[in-house]
Amino acid sequence: TKFSDLALDPRVLQAVSEAGYETPTPIQAQAIPHALQGRDVLGIAQTGTGKTASFSLPMITLLGQGRARARMPRSLVLCPTRELAAQVAENFDTYAKYTKLTKALLIGGVAFGEQDKLIDRGVDVLIATPGRLLDHFERGKLLLTGVQIMVVDEADRMLDMGFIPDIERIFSLTPFTRQTFFFSATMAPEIERITKTFLSNPAKIEV
Ligand code: AMP
Repeated sequence: TKFSDLALDPRVLQAVSEAGYETPTPIQAQAIPHALQGRDVLGIAQTGTGKTASFSLPMITLLGQGRARARMPRSLVLCPTRELAAQVAENFDTYAKYTKLTKALLIGGVAFGEQDKLIDRGVDVLIATPGRLLDHFERGKLLLTGVQIMVVDEADRMLDMGFIPDIERIFSLTPFTRQTFFFSATMAPEIERITKTFLSNPAKIEV
């Protein structure tokens, strides 16, 4: 498989090519076609497999051109740690550089002010840790009813860190009709339960 076989937005293909990626990794080759068809994806994959691009590239393609300001986020990516969220945000900027899509990174340890400003201005994509995301929600700053695509990255680490109740709560704040991409290195019983509850007939990909 080549990237150009994957029906990705040409602007995404251009960015990927400039990033020096020559061929899709196995999880990318398997997940991207399902994602672009609108299916939920359950990826059993470790870090280092290229899973970030496996959800980011179809997400950017599906979101298409950036839309008007001051509207609700259409995509939400949840990460277990600040570091991982920052890394996902950096990758997003690389892959989305030829689109007009905008993002906000919502993580703890920094003041709310700048994050509030971005949310008020309107962003397409939120990349967040669960605690800080819910902090914004509880402060009445954020509505998730416009979320069309939700990503849960490294769910096994979320479980280890006690974030499963937060994840369930956040799922319940997004529309039932959303598309979900869910990644975990392992399938502990608690993770399996979540996927059964919140994913709809997912394409299951194990690498
Ligand atoms: P990840 O598993 O998402 O953390 O990605 C691991 C590393 O692989 C990151 O540094 C990516 O930039 C890089 N990467 C992802 N996909 C590809 C690809 N198709 N070709 C080359 N490098 C890639």
